[in-house]
Amino acid sequence: MRSPSSSTCAQHAGGAIEATGSAQTAVCAGCAAIYPYAAWASLSLVQRIDSAEIARLVRDWPSDVSIDVRRCARCGASIARKSPNEPA
Ligand SMILES: [Zn+2]
Repeated sequence: MRSPSSSTCAQHAGGAIEATGSAQTAVCAGCAAIYPYAAWASLSLVQRIDSAEIARLVRDWPSDVSIDVRRCARCGASIARKSPNEPA
């Protein structure tokens, strides 16, 4: 398991997508839009699956990781991504 390192310089709102931190990005399955973590985190939340709920289905699931499902701003498809369990 890789630990989520708090990345620096991920706050650029420009057009260029950095190739470094691919683990920090989410890709829409509908339109292939690429969201850096900060952009994905700002999308509207559709559903949150709590870590305890996932742990019932997936063995060795870390207790501090849940899954957030958010709506793509371009095509409206749902994008699921692991999200640390932190109060927003
Ligand atoms: Zn999309």
